[in-house]
Amino acid sequence: MVPEGWFVALAHRYPEVGERVVASVFRPPDYHVGMEPAPRQHPGSSPPTPAATDAFDGLAGVPDRFGRALRDLRISVTDRCNFRCPYCMPAEVFGRDFAFLPHDQVLSFEEITRLATLFLRLGVTKLRITGGEPLVRRDLPVLIGRLAALRTPQGSPVDLTLTTNGSALRALAGPLASAGLQRITVSLDSLDDAVFGSMNGVDFPVSRVLDGIGAARSAGLSPIKVNTVVRRGMNESSILPLVRWAREAGLILRFIEYMDVGHSNGWRLDDVVPADEIIAIIDAELPLEPMEANYRGEVAGRYRFRDGTGEVGVIASVSRPFCADCTRARLSAEGHLYTCLFAMSGVDLKTPLRAGESDEELEARIRSVWAARVDRYSELRSAATRDLPKVEMFALGG
Ligand code: SAM
Ligand code: SF4
Ligand code: SF4
Repeated sequence: MVPEGWFVALAHRYPEVGERVVASVFRPPDYHVGMEPAPRQHPGSSPPTPAATDAFDGLAGVPDRFGRALRDLRISVTDRCNFRCPYCMPAEVFGRDFAFLPHDQVLSFEEITRLATLFLRLGVTKLRITGGEPLVRRDLPVLIGRLAALRTPQGSPVDLTLTTNGSALRALAGPLASAGLQRITVSLDSLDDAVFGSMNGVDFPVSRVLDGIGAARSAGLSPIKVNTVVRRGMNESSILPLVRWAREAGLILRFIEYMDVGHSNGWRLDDVVPADEIIAIIDAELPLEPMEANYRGEVAGRYRFRDGTGEVGVIASVSRPFCADCTRARLSAEGHLYTCLFAMSGVDLKTPLRAGESDEELEARIRSVWAARVDRYSELRSAATRDLPKVEMFALGG
């Protein structure tokens, strides 16, 4: 049943797991089909004037309907992964026979680089390579080299980073750093092999991820951040060991609230360990105090240890939504543009690109999508939104 206030157009793609919606339109509950949505004024945002050239951070850019600039682009280089984390790609749904994208439907390095260049022209300053598992994409350092060579219209280098499960990092950290990667985020949900094995779904050992982190450090990637998804009943007991380890190792650890991304992970609100609870667990042993955000739009709430030995973060998409400052777009491996992690549909850029559209035409296409953006899913999350047919996170780029 489609909840009130949502307009959904259906299309099907994944026969193995039943019908999956790939073409649909997100509308907030106050939207009336045939009418312009009434943009809500977010705190501190500029008035919703899509024609304006200055966004809420005072820099040139394209504001969306809530005045949020387009600053970050997450580029998924593959929808494949060697892990089966139950919160992302449960093995019982995405089994051996699952049909991932055929290679000719995945954007080539040339296509990714061309689109990234256009996003920079529209105000993007940060590129994050992701997936699926980005390190399973062959010759990834070649792409990194091309993206690292890009410049913003003002002539600045881009802030280039990558999120990985770390499984292939031991071999690839050096080549990625040599190609121009500056920093990296590694996902690691526990230091306990039994817990980590069930969180990654394939019994992948902790030691190999730690080897990868060591290789990243030796290669000079800095800072190294570690992402930990916390799921109730699975890995709360891993929180303190991870904090002690990361503090000792000088890594920036960030706990992520388990989110209702996609619609295959069986998410329930009861499975979420709220950020306040995570912070309280840490604070009881290692006293914390809140820190200022580095910049507007930063997703992690940051806390420093009161003894001055580092920091820890929480990404509280569920308990403290940060949509009002969300400047992120996602480009999926098949070349679709998504303006929200919880989107039910994207806009196909690959077809016009392969049909020969000019840079100007493609840029205008991206600009118009962003200018019309009204996404604020986490602010609207409710029992009714949980089962919406959202695109899977590994498909649109985490
Ligand atoms: N495969 C890479 C990895 O795991 O780091 C990159 C892609 S993954 C989709 C990006 C991030 O999303 C990872 O840190 C992962 O832990 C996180 N993630 C995936 N599913 C999640 C969920 N349901 N809730 C919260 N975070 C999730
Ligand atoms: Fe793979 Fe990352 Fe999803 Fe885990 S979170 S299944 S490593 S894409
Ligand atoms: Fe951004 Fe969507 Fe997440 Fe809100 S729910 S912060 S709009 S990606």
